[in-house]
Amino acid sequence: MTTRRDFLDKMKVTALGLPLLYHSNPLLAHETPYQGPMLRVAIMGLGSYGNRVAEAMRECKNAKLVGLISGTPSKIPKWQKAHNIPDKNCYNYENFDEIKDNPDIDAVYIITPNALHHPQTLRVAKAKKHVICEKPMATNAKDAQEMVDVCKANGVKLLIGYRMHFEPKTVAVIKMRQAGEFGRIRFFQGQSGFRIGDPTQWRLNKELSGGGAMMDIGIYSINGSRYMVGEEPIWVTAQETKTDPVKFKEGVDETIQFQMGFPSGAVASCLSTYQMRHLDRFFMTGDDGFVEMKPSTGYGPIEGKTHLGPLTQPHKTHQTIQMDEMAQIILEDKKQLVSVSGEEGVKDMKIIEAIYKAAKTGMRVEV
Ligand code: NAD
Repeated sequence: MTTRRDFLDKMKVTALGLPLLYHSNPLLAHETPYQGPMLRVAIMGLGSYGNRVAEAMRECKNAKLVGLISGTPSKIPKWQKAHNIPDKNCYNYENFDEIKDNPDIDAVYIITPNALHHPQTLRVAKAKKHVICEKPMATNAKDAQEMVDVCKANGVKLLIGYRMHFEPKTVAVIKMRQAGEFGRIRFFQGQSGFRIGDPTQWRLNKELSGGGAMMDIGIYSINGSRYMVGEEPIWVTAQETKTDPVKFKEGVDETIQFQMGFPSGAVASCLSTYQMRHLDRFFMTGDDGFVEMKPSTGYGPIEGKTHLGPLTQPHKTHQTIQMDEMAQIILEDKKQLVSVSGEEGVKDMKIIEAIYKAAKTGMRVEV
């Protein structure tokens, strides 16, 4: 953890002259002034989402990209140049346990294929670094729970990359629901999907993905139903449809419709798919009002309206707000409206398992 004093000391003594480099790098000319403790982050997995997070972090006030961990070390020089990363903060998948001895890295953001999240989280935790892990946090609930337990045992925090929990319009809707603006919630509808391309990608390989659309995109409707309704589902039913069994092999779900029941009596009806376009929509209705968001979980701008009119909160880059907020959660124990803790991730994994079981058996499954 970096205190303001540590940071100022580093400003004086750093042999790498990093702060000066930042000022002379035109890519970073918009670097904002330091405003509080700085979370120093290494990204593990330099793929497409890793790149999006790294670019968004240029605008962060409380978090800074300082390290890289890659299984393809040939990617590292380009990233080092783009983000001003010193050699001593670069690792590969064999040696990243050595991060334990690196006092200049506080946290590792794991942005690799789903099946790698569990073993990588355990190694990072044992190296005593905080973990931010992408969704789905694991490929099953048991591994997810072990990730929570090992992080706890090693005294580090585990946060899941649920960026929507920080998105301004989403936050406004959650606050409206908490204030009773919609009255008693009766129904949530979540539609999460896209048509996936390249059949050889890891997302369609069960060994690496743990499943199909549900793990990747359906999870947004699951997580969304929980933060929108404000309750935990107690049962699920589900139906699977597969139109292309060659592309979507055994254990890789193409399309699943699922329903959930909540303790209050509210119900949800959701769709998760890798085969349909234009699906990114949430709708919720209560006795006194409604909200419709479309897009609801894409990178934005999120758009939506309620019975009171359009949602007008300004768009901010999701990953920038997420990392600034996560820095405060990790360094200052900031409490959130809707938690992004490992425990929250475990709840989603349990619901995914229940949905898979319900789709397979045709039975209603208690969560
Ligand atoms: P990607 O394929 O673009 O990148 C994955 C990275 O992992 C690549 O750098 C790849 O080289 C590396 N990798 C390591 N071992 C690998 C292996 N055995 N096979 C294939 N690649 C391997 O994927 P991505 O879109 O960046 O997704 C990475 C993670 O981020 C996933 O868990 C995904 O669910 C998550 N994600 C989250 C969001 C979000 O909005 N929160 C968006 C996209 C992806």
